[in-house]
Amino acid sequence: MNVQIAIDGPSGAGKSTIAKALAKKLGILYVDTGALYRTVGLYAQMCGVDPHNAAAVAELLPEIHAELRYENGSQQVYLNGEPTGDRIRTPEISMYASAVSAIPAVRAFLLDTQREIAAKNGVVMDGRDIGTVILPNANVKIYLTASDECRAKRRFLELREKGIETSLEEVLADMRKRDNADSSREIAPAVAAPDAIPVDSSDLSIEECVSQIEAIVAEKLGR
Ligand code: C5P
Repeated sequence: MNVQIAIDGPSGAGKSTIAKALAKKLGILYVDTGALYRTVGLYAQMCGVDPHNAAAVAELLPEIHAELRYENGSQQVYLNGEPTGDRIRTPEISMYASAVSAIPAVRAFLLDTQREIAAKNGVVMDGRDIGTVILPNANVKIYLTASDECRAKRRFLELREKGIETSLEEVLADMRKRDNADSSREIAPAVAAPDAIPVDSSDLSIEECVSQIEAIVAEKLGR
């Protein structure tokens, strides 16, 4: 079996930054699964469909071809042959992604895409249900968290860097709303797998956090 490392946790805990750095060090693929839910959310928004309307969203799924491609080492999601780029990173699409991700048909639709990548490549995969649903036999499972304030600040700086206008208060409120929805939904709620190792990144630099997880991985893989 290819190496599978699952990194789950709430938004802004540092999953993508840490998972990307870890994948590079280990020479395996980094997979950002949130980008797939964001792409379905983007399509619903483009079609003017309410992302909470499960039947209407399910009807759109046959029209969606979401494909992950790797360009110069970074992941890009193609929606029906077009790169989604930063269009999937806006606060509006974050809410759309969270809403569509609670629909069972959407999760079923994206399941194979995620498992197929892990079947073909060694992966560090980040998301909400990687250790619990997508890769339950992953070699290493990490549940990455950080305080609400810390996560909101990181997300705010990230959005500002992308030129997206917002305030820290707004980001914090949106984040709490999304976390609540993600962890209380009926299907694949965002919770730690019983065998996941918790890591709190609040007081760690990126390097410290990567080294801590690297040490856990080395121990688990016996390297
Ligand atoms: O990780 P990111 O913030 O990009 O994810 C966007 C949304 O997609 C999350 O709020 C969550 O609702 C959903 N998601 C999910 N399962 C995953 C990854 C993301 O439900 N594995």
